[in-house]
Amino acid sequence: MSRPELIKEVVNSIEEYVPGRSIDEIASRYGLDPSGVIKLGSNENVLGPSPMAVEAMLSASSRVNIYPSADASELVEAISAYTGLPVANICASGPGMDGLLDNLMRLLISPGDEVVLPTPTFSYYEIAARANGAKAVHVLPGEELVFDVSAIKDAISENTKVVFLCSPNNPTGKVLDEADVRDILEFTKGIVFVDEAYVEFADRNLSHLVTEYDNIIIGRTFSKAFGLAGLRMGYGLMPAWLKLQYMKIATPFNVSFPAVVAGIAALSDKVHLKKSISSAREGRKYLTDMIPFKVHDSQANFVLVDVAPLLARDVAEYFLRKGIIIRDCRSFKNAGDSLLRVTVGTQQQNEKVVAIFEEAKSFRSQ
Ligand SMILES: *Cc1c(COP(=O)(O)O)cnc(C)c1O
Repeated sequence: MSRPELIKEVVNSIEEYVPGRSIDEIASRYGLDPSGVIKLGSNENVLGPSPMAVEAMLSASSRVNIYPSADASELVEAISAYTGLPVANICASGPGMDGLLDNLMRLLISPGDEVVLPTPTFSYYEIAARANGAKAVHVLPGEELVFDVSAIKDAISENTKVVFLCSPNNPTGKVLDEADVRDILEFTKGIVFVDEAYVEFADRNLSHLVTEYDNIIIGRTFSKAFGLAGLRMGYGLMPAWLKLQYMKIATPFNVSFPAVVAGIAALSDKVHLKKSISSAREGRKYLTDMIPFKVHDSQANFVLVDVAPLLARDVAEYFLRKGIIIRDCRSFKNAGDSLLRVTVGTQQQNEKVVAIFEEAKSFRSQ
Protein backbone atom coordinates (compact mmCIF):
# COMPACT_ATOMS: atom_id res chain seq x y z
CA MET A 1 0.00 0.00 0.00
CA SER A 2 1.37 3.41 -0.91
CA ARG A 3 1.18 6.24 1.66
CA PRO A 4 2.25 9.45 -0.11
CA GLU A 5 1.17 11.59 2.89
CA LEU A 6 4.23 10.24 4.74
CA ILE A 7 6.60 11.72 2.15
CA LYS A 8 7.65 15.39 2.19
CA GLU A 9 5.10 17.13 -0.01
CA VAL A 10 7.68 18.67 -2.34
CA VAL A 11 8.94 15.26 -3.41
CA ASN A 12 5.66 14.59 -5.22
CA SER A 13 6.48 17.38 -7.67
CA ILE A 14 10.15 16.50 -8.22
CA GLU A 15 10.95 14.91 -11.55
CA GLU A 16 13.15 11.83 -11.30
CA TYR A 17 16.80 12.02 -12.42
CA VAL A 18 17.07 10.45 -15.88
CA PRO A 19 20.35 8.51 -16.18
CA GLY A 20 21.92 7.52 -19.50
CA ARG A 21 20.88 4.06 -20.74
CA SER A 22 22.87 1.03 -19.60
CA ILE A 23 24.48 -1.58 -21.84
CA ASP A 24 22.44 -4.47 -20.38
CA GLU A 25 19.16 -2.61 -20.81
CA ILE A 26 19.82 -1.87 -24.48
CA ALA A 27 21.24 -5.32 -25.27
CA SER A 28 18.16 -7.05 -23.90
CA ARG A 29 15.68 -4.61 -25.46
CA TYR A 30 17.15 -4.86 -28.97
CA GLY A 31 18.39 -8.45 -28.79
CA LEU A 32 22.06 -7.43 -29.09
CA ASP A 33 25.22 -9.02 -27.71
CA PRO A 34 26.12 -6.81 -24.68
CA SER A 35 29.83 -7.08 -25.51
CA GLY A 36 29.14 -5.35 -28.83
CA VAL A 37 27.14 -2.43 -27.39
CA ILE A 38 29.06 0.88 -27.36
CA LYS A 39 28.18 3.24 -24.52
CA LEU A 40 28.59 6.89 -25.45
CA GLY A 41 25.69 8.21 -23.40
CA SER A 42 27.18 9.00 -19.98
CA ASN A 43 30.52 10.73 -20.68
CA GLU A 44 32.57 7.98 -19.07
CA ASN A 45 36.27 7.54 -19.85
CA VAL A 46 36.42 5.30 -22.93
CA LEU A 47 40.04 4.38 -22.18
CA GLY A 48 38.97 2.75 -18.91
CA PRO A 49 40.32 3.42 -15.42
CA SER A 50 43.97 4.14 -14.66
CA PRO A 51 45.76 0.76 -14.31
CA MET A 52 47.50 2.19 -11.24
CA ALA A 53 44.13 2.94 -9.66
CA VAL A 54 42.90 -0.59 -10.34
CA GLU A 55 45.98 -2.06 -8.71
CA ALA A 56 45.64 0.21 -5.66
CA MET A 57 42.01 -0.76 -5.28
CA LEU A 58 42.80 -4.48 -5.43
CA SER A 59 45.46 -4.11 -2.78
CA ALA A 60 42.93 -2.31 -0.57
CA SER A 61 40.33 -5.02 -0.91
CA SER A 62 41.62 -7.16 1.98
CA ARG A 63 41.27 -4.21 4.37
CA VAL A 64 37.65 -3.27 3.81
CA ASN A 65 36.63 -4.58 7.24
CA ILE A 66 38.17 -1.34 8.61
CA TYR A 67 36.50 2.07 8.33
CA PRO A 68 38.36 4.57 6.15
CA SER A 69 39.40 7.91 7.68
CA ALA A 70 36.27 9.99 8.39
CA ASP A 71 37.37 12.87 6.15
CA ALA A 72 39.49 10.97 3.55
CA SER A 73 42.46 13.09 4.64
CA GLU A 74 45.03 11.07 2.61
CA LEU A 75 43.00 11.71 -0.55
CA VAL A 76 42.56 15.38 0.37
CA GLU A 77 46.37 15.70 0.61
CA ALA A 78 46.73 14.24 -2.88
CA ILE A 79 44.04 16.57 -4.26
CA SER A 80 45.91 19.46 -2.66
CA ALA A 81 49.05 18.49 -4.58
CA TYR A 82 47.02 18.13 -7.80
CA THR A 83 45.14 21.43 -7.54
CA GLY A 84 47.81 23.49 -5.78
CA LEU A 85 45.25 24.55 -3.14
CA PRO A 86 45.69 24.12 0.64
CA VAL A 87 43.92 21.18 2.32
CA ALA A 88 41.87 23.77 4.26
CA ASN A 89 40.04 24.47 0.98
CA ILE A 90 39.30 20.86 -0.03
CA CYS A 91 36.57 18.37 0.92
CA ALA A 92 36.54 14.88 -0.59
CA SER A 93 33.06 13.53 -1.28
CA GLY A 94 31.11 10.39 -1.98
CA PRO A 95 29.02 9.15 -3.67
CA GLY A 96 30.61 11.22 -6.41
CA MET A 97 30.20 14.96 -6.80
CA ASP A 98 26.49 14.22 -6.42
CA GLY A 99 27.23 13.44 -2.75
CA LEU A 100 28.94 16.84 -2.42
CA LEU A 101 25.85 18.54 -3.88
CA ASP A 102 23.60 16.67 -1.51
CA ASN A 103 25.65 17.63 1.56
CA LEU A 104 25.87 21.24 0.35
CA MET A 105 22.13 21.54 -0.12
CA ARG A 106 21.59 20.21 3.42
CA LEU A 107 24.14 22.77 4.62
CA LEU A 108 22.82 25.78 2.73
CA ILE A 109 19.13 25.51 1.87
CA SER A 110 16.24 26.42 4.12
CA PRO A 111 12.66 26.19 2.84
CA GLY A 112 11.85 29.26 0.75
CA ASP A 113 15.42 29.93 -0.40
CA GLU A 114 15.81 30.34 -4.14
CA VAL A 115 18.36 28.66 -6.38
CA VAL A 116 19.18 30.05 -9.83
CA LEU A 117 19.53 27.44 -12.57
CA PRO A 118 20.74 28.55 -16.00
CA THR A 119 19.47 25.98 -18.51
CA PRO A 120 19.94 23.56 -20.13
CA THR A 121 22.18 22.00 -17.49
CA PHE A 122 22.87 19.00 -15.27
CA SER A 123 19.56 18.08 -13.65
CA TYR A 124 20.66 16.85 -10.24
CA TYR A 125 21.17 20.43 -8.93
CA GLU A 126 17.44 21.00 -9.03
CA ILE A 127 16.60 17.67 -7.40
CA ALA A 128 19.06 18.16 -4.52
CA ALA A 129 18.02 21.79 -3.94
CA ARG A 130 14.27 21.24 -4.12
CA ALA A 131 14.40 18.17 -1.88
CA ASN A 132 15.69 20.57 0.79
CA GLY A 133 12.91 23.09 0.21
CA ALA A 134 14.45 25.44 -2.37
CA LYS A 135 12.45 27.17 -5.05
CA ALA A 136 14.05 26.69 -8.49
CA VAL A 137 14.39 29.79 -10.70
CA HIS A 138 15.25 28.73 -14.26
CA VAL A 139 17.09 30.96 -16.71
CA LEU A 140 16.76 30.57 -20.48
CA PRO A 141 19.97 30.22 -22.51
CA GLY A 142 21.20 32.94 -24.86
CA GLU A 143 22.37 32.59 -28.48
CA GLU A 144 24.06 29.28 -29.29
CA LEU A 145 22.91 27.88 -25.91
CA VAL A 146 25.54 29.94 -24.09
CA PHE A 147 24.64 30.97 -20.52
CA ASP A 148 23.09 34.46 -20.60
CA VAL A 149 24.92 36.34 -17.84
CA SER A 150 22.60 39.35 -17.76
CA ALA A 151 19.55 37.06 -17.56
CA ILE A 152 21.26 35.16 -14.72
CA LYS A 153 21.78 38.45 -12.87
CA ASP A 154 18.14 39.41 -13.48
CA ALA A 155 17.09 36.10 -11.89
CA ILE A 156 19.15 36.71 -8.74
CA SER A 157 17.09 38.15 -5.87
CA GLU A 158 17.40 38.86 -2.14
CA ASN A 159 16.33 35.24 -1.58
CA THR A 160 18.94 33.65 -3.86
CA LYS A 161 21.00 31.20 -1.83
CA VAL A 162 22.87 29.38 -4.63
CA VAL A 163 23.59 30.11 -8.29
CA PHE A 164 24.57 26.97 -10.21
CA LEU A 165 27.07 27.40 -13.04
CA CYS A 166 28.44 24.43 -14.95
CA SER A 167 31.66 24.96 -16.96
CA PRO A 168 32.16 23.14 -19.28
CA ASN A 169 28.39 22.84 -19.17
CA ASN A 170 26.62 19.51 -19.50
CA PRO A 171 25.03 19.05 -22.07
CA THR A 172 26.36 21.98 -24.17
CA GLY A 173 30.14 21.66 -23.61
CA LYS A 174 30.44 25.49 -23.38
CA VAL A 175 32.71 27.22 -20.86
CA LEU A 176 32.14 30.43 -18.95
CA ASP A 177 34.48 33.42 -19.08
CA GLU A 178 36.25 34.09 -15.80
CA ALA A 179 35.17 37.75 -15.94
CA ASP A 180 31.51 36.67 -16.07
CA VAL A 181 31.92 34.34 -13.09
CA ARG A 182 33.59 37.16 -11.13
CA ASP A 183 30.73 39.45 -12.11
CA ILE A 184 28.15 36.97 -10.74
CA LEU A 185 30.22 36.30 -7.58
CA GLU A 186 30.29 40.02 -6.85
CA PHE A 187 26.65 40.59 -7.78
CA THR A 188 24.99 37.92 -5.63
CA LYS A 189 24.81 37.77 -1.86
CA GLY A 190 24.49 33.98 -2.18
CA ILE A 191 26.90 31.17 -3.00
CA VAL A 192 28.04 30.46 -6.55
CA PHE A 193 28.52 26.74 -7.22
CA VAL A 194 30.75 26.13 -10.25
CA ASP A 195 30.61 22.55 -11.55
CA GLU A 196 33.94 21.62 -13.13
CA ALA A 197 33.20 17.92 -13.73
CA TYR A 198 34.82 18.20 -17.19
CA VAL A 199 37.51 20.76 -16.38
CA GLU A 200 40.46 18.50 -17.33
CA PHE A 201 39.30 18.55 -20.96
CA ALA A 202 38.93 22.34 -21.07
CA ASP A 203 41.32 25.21 -21.73
CA ARG A 204 40.64 26.93 -18.37
CA ASN A 205 39.71 26.36 -14.75
CA LEU A 206 38.56 28.60 -11.93
CA SER A 207 40.13 26.93 -8.89
CA HIS A 208 42.22 30.03 -8.06
CA LEU A 209 39.02 31.94 -7.27
CA VAL A 210 38.49 29.77 -4.18
CA THR A 211 41.12 31.62 -2.16
CA GLU A 212 39.94 34.99 -3.49
CA TYR A 213 36.16 34.94 -2.92
CA ASP A 214 34.27 33.89 0.22
CA ASN A 215 31.17 32.71 -1.68
CA ILE A 216 32.40 30.25 -4.32
CA ILE A 217 32.35 26.45 -4.27
CA ILE A 218 33.82 24.40 -7.11
CA GLY A 219 32.69 20.81 -7.65
CA ARG A 220 35.01 18.24 -9.21
CA THR A 221 34.79 14.50 -9.87
CA PHE A 222 36.87 11.38 -10.49
CA SER A 223 34.12 10.05 -12.77
CA LYS A 224 35.12 11.63 -16.06
CA ALA A 225 38.82 12.32 -16.90
CA PHE A 226 40.03 9.91 -14.20
CA GLY A 227 37.77 7.08 -15.36
CA LEU A 228 36.48 6.10 -11.90
CA ALA A 229 32.73 6.67 -12.31
CA GLY A 230 31.94 3.31 -10.74
CA LEU A 231 33.79 4.21 -7.54
CA ARG A 232 31.62 7.28 -6.93
CA MET A 233 33.96 9.96 -5.65
CA GLY A 234 34.37 13.67 -6.12
CA TYR A 235 35.57 16.71 -4.22
CA GLY A 236 34.73 20.29 -3.46
CA LEU A 237 37.03 23.33 -3.46
CA MET A 238 35.75 26.05 -1.15
CA PRO A 239 36.82 28.85 1.19
CA ALA A 240 38.19 27.57 4.51
CA TRP A 241 35.26 29.01 6.52
CA LEU A 242 32.84 26.96 4.42
CA LYS A 243 34.85 23.75 4.75
CA LEU A 244 34.61 24.00 8.57
CA GLN A 245 30.81 24.25 8.36
CA TYR A 246 30.56 21.60 5.62
CA MET A 247 32.50 19.05 7.65
CA LYS A 248 29.98 19.37 10.51
CA ILE A 249 27.13 18.01 8.42
CA ALA A 250 28.87 15.84 5.79
CA THR A 251 28.13 12.12 6.01
CA PRO A 252 31.09 10.63 7.91
CA PHE A 253 33.27 8.10 6.07
CA ASN A 254 31.65 9.06 2.76
CA VAL A 255 34.59 8.05 0.58
CA SER A 256 35.22 4.29 0.78
CA PHE A 257 38.71 2.94 1.44
CA PRO A 258 39.13 1.42 -2.07
CA ALA A 259 38.03 4.77 -3.54
CA VAL A 260 40.52 6.73 -1.40
CA VAL A 261 43.52 4.67 -2.53
CA ALA A 262 42.33 4.49 -6.14
CA GLY A 263 41.88 8.26 -6.20
CA ILE A 264 45.39 8.85 -4.88
CA ALA A 265 46.81 6.48 -7.51
CA ALA A 266 44.75 8.04 -10.32
CA LEU A 267 45.99 11.53 -9.40
CA SER A 268 49.58 10.29 -9.64
CA ASP A 269 49.05 8.48 -12.96
CA LYS A 270 49.92 11.40 -15.25
CA VAL A 271 50.30 9.09 -18.26
CA HIS A 272 46.70 7.85 -18.12
CA LEU A 273 45.35 11.35 -17.48
CA LYS A 274 47.29 12.84 -20.40
CA LYS A 275 46.15 10.07 -22.74
CA SER A 276 42.54 10.53 -21.64
CA ILE A 277 42.67 14.27 -22.24
CA SER A 278 44.36 14.11 -25.64
CA SER A 279 42.06 11.33 -26.84
CA ALA A 280 39.00 13.42 -25.87
CA ARG A 281 40.36 16.60 -27.44
CA GLU A 282 41.34 14.95 -30.72
CA GLY A 283 38.13 12.94 -30.85
CA ARG A 284 35.87 15.92 -30.26
CA LYS A 285 37.60 17.82 -33.06
CA TYR A 286 37.08 14.85 -35.38
CA LEU A 287 33.40 14.56 -34.42
CA THR A 288 32.84 18.32 -34.71
CA ASP A 289 34.37 18.36 -38.19
CA MET A 290 32.81 15.15 -39.50
CA ILE A 291 29.26 14.86 -38.12
CA PRO A 292 26.98 16.11 -40.92
CA PHE A 293 24.76 18.17 -38.60
CA LYS A 294 25.30 21.26 -36.49
CA VAL A 295 27.77 20.42 -33.71
CA HIS A 296 28.23 22.90 -30.85
CA ASP A 297 31.80 23.84 -29.92
CA SER A 298 32.72 21.77 -26.87
CA GLN A 299 35.41 21.93 -24.20
CA ALA A 300 34.37 18.58 -22.70
CA ASN A 301 34.63 14.87 -23.58
CA PHE A 302 31.31 15.00 -25.42
CA VAL A 303 29.73 16.98 -28.23
CA LEU A 304 26.20 18.31 -28.57
CA VAL A 305 24.62 17.65 -31.96
CA ASP A 306 21.54 19.48 -33.22
CA VAL A 307 19.72 17.22 -35.67
CA ALA A 308 16.88 19.66 -36.47
CA PRO A 309 14.60 19.34 -38.38
CA LEU A 310 14.90 15.70 -37.29
CA LEU A 311 13.88 14.66 -33.79
CA ALA A 312 16.53 13.63 -31.29
CA ARG A 313 14.25 10.80 -30.23
CA ASP A 314 14.24 9.23 -33.71
CA VAL A 315 17.98 9.56 -34.24
CA ALA A 316 18.79 8.22 -30.74
CA GLU A 317 16.53 5.26 -31.42
CA TYR A 318 18.33 4.58 -34.72
CA PHE A 319 21.68 4.58 -32.90
CA LEU A 320 20.34 2.17 -30.27
CA ARG A 321 19.26 -0.31 -32.92
CA LYS A 322 22.84 -0.19 -34.19
CA GLY A 323 24.11 -0.88 -30.67
CA ILE A 324 25.37 2.61 -29.84
CA ILE A 325 24.01 4.42 -26.80
CA ILE A 326 23.95 8.23 -27.10
CA ARG A 327 21.98 10.73 -25.04
CA ASP A 328 18.68 12.19 -26.19
CA CYS A 329 18.64 15.56 -24.38
CA ARG A 330 14.89 15.98 -24.11
CA SER A 331 15.06 15.38 -20.35
CA PHE A 332 17.20 18.54 -19.94
CA LYS A 333 14.97 21.57 -19.30
CA ASN A 334 14.91 24.05 -22.22
CA ALA A 335 16.95 21.76 -24.49
CA GLY A 336 14.19 21.34 -27.05
CA ASP A 337 13.67 18.11 -28.98
CA SER A 338 16.50 18.02 -31.51
CA LEU A 339 19.64 17.79 -29.35
CA LEU A 340 21.81 14.71 -28.87
CA ARG A 341 24.84 14.48 -26.59
CA VAL A 342 27.54 12.08 -27.76
CA THR A 343 30.51 11.07 -25.61
CA VAL A 344 33.78 11.20 -27.53
CA GLY A 345 34.79 7.58 -28.12
CA THR A 346 37.89 5.86 -29.41
CA GLN A 347 38.78 6.72 -33.02
CA GLN A 348 37.10 3.53 -34.22
CA GLN A 349 33.94 4.31 -32.26
CA ASN A 350 33.94 7.91 -33.50
CA GLU A 351 34.10 6.68 -37.10
CA LYS A 352 31.04 4.49 -36.49
CA VAL A 353 29.21 7.42 -34.95
CA VAL A 354 29.92 9.61 -37.97
CA ALA A 355 28.80 6.86 -40.34
CA ILE A 356 25.48 6.46 -38.51
CA PHE A 357 24.86 10.23 -38.52
CA GLU A 358 25.50 10.10 -42.29
CA GLU A 359 22.78 7.46 -42.60
CA ALA A 360 20.45 9.51 -40.39
CA LYS A 361 20.80 12.46 -42.74
CA SER A 362 18.69 10.61 -45.31
CA PHE A 363 15.77 10.52 -42.82
CA ARG A 364 14.98 13.98 -44.13
CA SER A 365 13.86 12.79 -47.50
CA GLN A 366 11.82 9.87 -46.15
C1 LIG B 1 28.93 13.50 -14.33
C2 LIG B 1 28.59 14.82 -13.73
C3 LIG B 1 28.56 15.04 -12.35
C4 LIG B 1 28.51 13.94 -11.35
O1 LIG B 1 29.62 13.34 -11.11
P1 LIG B 1 29.73 12.17 -10.05
O2 LIG B 1 30.98 12.52 -9.36
O3 LIG B 1 29.80 10.92 -10.85
O4 LIG B 1 28.56 12.21 -9.10
C5 LIG B 1 28.36 16.31 -11.88
N1 LIG B 1 28.17 17.32 -12.71
C6 LIG B 1 28.15 17.15 -14.03
C7 LIG B 1 27.93 18.31 -14.91
C8 LIG B 1 28.34 15.89 -14.58
O5 LIG B 1 28.24 15.73 -15.90
